[in-house]
Amino acid sequence: MNSALEGKYAVTMDMYPLESSDFNRIHPFYDHLKEGRLTTTRCRDCGKKSFPPRVMCPHCMSENLEWADLPVTGTVLVVTEEEVGVPVGFETPLIHALIDLSGELSLFARIRGCKTGELKEGDQVKLTVFPVDPLPVDGKKGVVILQERVFFAFEKL
Ligand SMILES: [Zn+2]
Repeated sequence: MNSALEGKYAVTMDMYPLESSDFNRIHPFYDHLKEGRLTTTRCRDCGKKSFPPRVMCPHCMSENLEWADLPVTGTVLVVTEEEVGVPVGFETPLIHALIDLSGELSLFARIRGCKTGELKEGDQVKLTVFPVDPLPVDGKKGVVILQERVFFAFEKL
């Protein structure tokens, strides 16, 4: 593989795993985030939503998917806090939570703006969208294009 991105891409991919080789097919996820919407893919064949967005339904293998909005507030089910060994580029403590989105779906997401011990099971959280480093993507003729990006987290209500 002769990509202009060789050796430059790994760190970004590790930090934000949604930006994989499927990126071009799930990019509406980021467009929706910019509008303050949390979305994912819903299967038109079996009706199930999956998170993160997919290019193929993990339940029935259909590629007949559409975008659907998810609730932007939720309830914390489980909290994890990391004080050490946090990846480069993240502040400490690095807090993640399993969040129940009004019974529609639960997802594991980063929590911003909380101190260690502040977030508890049962707390209400809401979506927050913030800019992250642009994503280098392969343009034509080996030119690397920087794609403006946002990512999401949740914060305590
Ligand atoms: Zn399906």
